[in-house]
Amino acid sequence: MTTLTNLEQVRRVVTAIPGPKSVAAIQRRAEAVSGGLGLTFPVVIERASDAIMLDLDGNQIIDMGSGIGVVNVGNSSSKVVERVIEQVQAFTHTCFTVAPYLNYIEVCEALNRLAPGTHKKKSMLANSGAEAVENAVKIARHYTKRQAIVVFEHAYHGRTNLTMALNAKNMPYKDGFGPFAPEIYRVPMPYEYRWLGPKETITEDAIEMITHKIEKEIGANNVAAILIEPIQGEGGFIVPPLGFLPALSKYCTDNGIVFMADEVQSGFARTGNMFAIESEGVIPDILITAKALGGGLPIAGVTGRAEIMDSSHVSGLGGTFGGNPVSCAAALGALETIESEDLIGRARHIGDVLGNGLLALAAKYPVIGEVRGRGAMLAIELIKPGTIEPNSDAMSKVLKYCMANGVFILSAGTYNNVIRFLPPLVITDDLLMDTLTVLDEAFATL
Ligand SMILES: *Cc1c(COP(=O)(O)O)cnc(C)c1O
Repeated sequence: MTTLTNLEQVRRVVTAIPGPKSVAAIQRRAEAVSGGLGLTFPVVIERASDAIMLDLDGNQIIDMGSGIGVVNVGNSSSKVVERVIEQVQAFTHTCFTVAPYLNYIEVCEALNRLAPGTHKKKSMLANSGAEAVENAVKIARHYTKRQAIVVFEHAYHGRTNLTMALNAKNMPYKDGFGPFAPEIYRVPMPYEYRWLGPKETITEDAIEMITHKIEKEIGANNVAAILIEPIQGEGGFIVPPLGFLPALSKYCTDNGIVFMADEVQSGFARTGNMFAIESEGVIPDILITAKALGGGLPIAGVTGRAEIMDSSHVSGLGGTFGGNPVSCAAALGALETIESEDLIGRARHIGDVLGNGLLALAAKYPVIGEVRGRGAMLAIELIKPGTIEPNSDAMSKVLKYCMANGVFILSAGTYNNVIRFLPPLVITDDLLMDTLTVLDEAFATL
């Protein structure tokens, strides 16, 4: 289907970016919109398709962020658009727990099929990643009759009260917003690039530190769940060392702890598997999804072992909008696209093309301390050459240069020094190469 939003997949800079219309709109924004909201790019979007965004001034910008890992299937992907239009014309809302409808059930069936493991699974739907995390915590506590939740350094799980407590980073997520929820315990994350101990034994040492902390400070028998992002997102695309996730999962099984994978950012083909946790064959007890699930519409999922998902009393879970039919239609369109267009294969290909390009840049510019990630979830960490001291200033300069030249790239990282790449998985090789050229120019200006 040809949609209104089909744009030629080329970068085109026709004004300064931001252009005059964006500047004017951003002034209106400042008057009307809460100052508590961040603003990564002061550029106002009119339309978008696949990996190109068109701004108010007519600039065509390469989307290397996918709205923070949401439009994996591309902006305004045709199957998402078609199904949403059909659903809006049929009905828009009943509240699933009041009067159910088929596409909610179909999304749950799809999640149960796609989530790792052949055991019997069940799902529930929510509106956002944070809400899904909150539900996962409720479910794990109810099932285990335990309270403690173990989370990691550099973790990010959302902006609601409970998820603020789960986050590792104070600014901007927590500062001044307390008090926070109790019974949250933080353990070390094996962040290899910044690990102080010997790197050869990082997996064993990290597991030892974590299990020691759990046993001495909390008591394994009090732990309801261990919650981890299989590749950390906001923390800076931190990939745990080989063997770490399997060991953690085994510890959970041995101690009756629910192992929860937050795949809100890493899920749905992004890393070259349907879910990042699959790369080492780990099967989570609960899988948390959101972002890319709806192909651009808000929807989130909690998928887990049937006995865990069924443990809560009737009406203990729910919400007015969770699994809204329009969002469910979008999710079915997105999932169909991921599978029929082999976006898993595309993510691996992007990993090769972009990954090799980034490695070449790292060889040329010593400010790039590390290239890491998997598939189409890649990052570079910037440092002061000759040290591992974070270089936030270089990051800002590079991203500003890219924006001014029509390439949107996001930052990340506990130390605000990571550039992360989350392109739509339908991005063309030409746009990837063009992005690498602009990045090369950006680094050359430092
Ligand atoms: C974005 C994100 C969340 C929160 O999702 P929202 O939809 O913004 O509430 C939770 N976990 C991870 C890993 C995320 O990247």
